Amino acid sequence: MKDQLFIDGDYVASASGQIFEVVDPSDRQVFHHVPRGNAEDIDRAVTAARRAFDHGPWPRMSGAERASVLRRMGDEIAARKDELARLEVRDNGKPLPEAVWDIEDTAGVFHFYADLAERMDNAAEQPITLGMDGFTSKAVREPVGVAGAIIPWNFPLLMASWKVAPALAAGCSIVLKPSELTPVTALELGGIAQKAGLPAGVLNIVTGFGAEAGQPLTEHPGVDKLAFTGSVPTGSRIMATAARDIKTVSLELGGKSPLVVFADTPIDEAVEWILFGIFWNQGEVCSATSRVLVEAPIYDKLMARLAEEALKIKIGHGLDEGVLLGPLVSPSQHEKVLAAIERGKSEGRLVTGGGVPKGLEAGCYVEPTIFADMAEDSWIWREEIFGPVVCVKPFETEAEAIRMANDSRFGLAAAVMSADLDRAERVARAFRAGIVWINCSQPTFTEAPWGGYKQSGIGRELGEWGLNNYLETKQITAWD
Ligand code: NAD
Repeated sequence: MKDQLFIDGDYVASASGQIFEVVDPSDRQVFHHVPRGNAEDIDRAVTAARRAFDHGPWPRMSGAERASVLRRMGDEIAARKDELARLEVRDNGKPLPEAVWDIEDTAGVFHFYADLAERMDNAAEQPITLGMDGFTSKAVREPVGVAGAIIPWNFPLLMASWKVAPALAAGCSIVLKPSELTPVTALELGGIAQKAGLPAGVLNIVTGFGAEAGQPLTEHPGVDKLAFTGSVPTGSRIMATAARDIKTVSLELGGKSPLVVFADTPIDEAVEWILFGIFWNQGEVCSATSRVLVEAPIYDKLMARLAEEALKIKIGHGLDEGVLLGPLVSPSQHEKVLAAIERGKSEGRLVTGGGVPKGLEAGCYVEPTIFADMAEDSWIWREEIFGPVVCVKPFETEAEAIRMANDSRFGLAAAVMSADLDRAERVARAFRAGIVWINCSQPTFTEAPWGGYKQSGIGRELGEWGLNNYLETKQITAWD
C-alpha cells in the first residue's frame, strides 16, 4: 500500500508533513495512513501537470501512442485485480465479488478509452462547408488542458477511471483528489501509470480533505477544467468557485431515483431488481433506485415478498463467502444513515430492517431497510440517504406514476418494469432523468452516456461523451 502522494511522476511526501487515518468500516480500526495533502501539494501537482501539458510529449503524441499507454494501464489493473479488489473491501466495505466487478470495469474503462484515443487520430479534422466561397474551414479537437478531478468514496478506483482515462485519452494532464474516506487504491494508480510509461506530470494524485486539498484544486488558476463527482452541496460550491475563472465543469451529483413497477411484471423479477437496485454496494450508489412505485393491484403481494426476501440478504464482512451487504463506508456515514432511518420512522411505516444487525455492532453495518406509507412531501421520500434504505408507494395510473417519479429535484436515473414494452418505452421517454432502465435497474456500460438532469449534474461521462468533456473544439479558417 502506498503512503505518499504521486506528483510529477514520483511518490513524494506531503508538504504538510501530516498524515491521516484510513479506517476499515468492518471493525472501525485504522488500517492505513496517507498524506494529508494541502494547498502547497496541490500547487506542486498543478505546476507539474501544467508543465507536462504545455511542454511535455503527452498532448503532442498521436492518439495511437497514447492508446498504448492507456492499454498498458488497463492491463496492469486487470493483472492486479484480486489485490486491488481486496484493498477496496477494506477501504470501502463492499463485498468482494462487487469489488472485483469494479476493478474489472476499471480496467475496461482504460481499454475503452485507449480505443477511442486511437480513433481520434482519424477524426481529428472535420471539414466545414461554408456558405461563402473564398474560404476553407475545418474543425479540430484538442485537449482542454489541465484537468482537476475530485471523486467520492463509493466506487473508489472506478470513479477515478471515469475521469482519468478519458482525460488521458484526450491528451490532457490531470490532478486527482480522491475521497478522504477511500484514498488507498487511487494512490496505487500512480505506480500503475509509472509502469505503463506515462510521462511525468501527466497524472498527479493528492490525497486529503475537501477543504484542504479539494478546494485549492478548484481555485487553482493553472487548472482549465474541473470534473467532480459527489454531493449536490459540494458540486454547487465547486461550480461557484469555477465561475470566478470561467473554468469548464462537469458534475455528477446525487439522486433519488424512481423505479416504477406495473402490475403485469412478474413479481419475482420485480422483487429481484428492486432489491438489487437499492441494496447493492450497501445502497451507496448515486443511481440507486431508492423510491419504488408499485401499481396498486400487486402492491400488497409485492410488499410481502419484498420484506421476505430482504430478510434473506446475508450481511457481513465483505471478504466472507456469500455476503451481499457489507458495512457502510465510515462511522460518520453509518450515523447519518441511522439518523435518516429514525426520521423515516416518524414519517412512514418501517416494513423491515431499520437497525444494526445483531452480532455486527463493531462495524458500520445497517440492515436492509424498507419504508412504506410515507407522504409524498416527506423528507425520507424526497432526500438522498445513500444507504440501504428504500421507500415504496403504490400508484393507480400511468400518469400518476410519471408525475410522482418526476416530482424530484434530482434526475439522475429512473427505471420502469412492465411486460408491455410500448408502455415501458413511453414511460422511459417521459422520465426527466439522464439514465433510464427498462425491466432492470443499475446495469452500467462504459459505452453509454452517464449523467443527470436537474440537480443531478451537468454533462455526461462514459462513452464518447466522456471524452468530449476533455476536448476543446477549434475552427481553422483560411482565405483561399
Ligand atoms: P462529497 O461531496 O462530500 O465529497 C466528494 C468529494 O469532494 C470528496 O473527494 C471530498 O473530499 C471533496 N470535497 C468536499 N468538499 C470540497 C470542497 N469544498 N471543494 C472541493 N472538494 C471538496 O460527496 P461524498 O459523500 O464523497 O459522495 C456521496 C455523494 O456523491 C452522493 O450525493 C452521491 O449521489 C454522489 N455520487 C454521484 C455519482 C454520479 O455519478 N452522479 C457517483 C457517485 C456518487
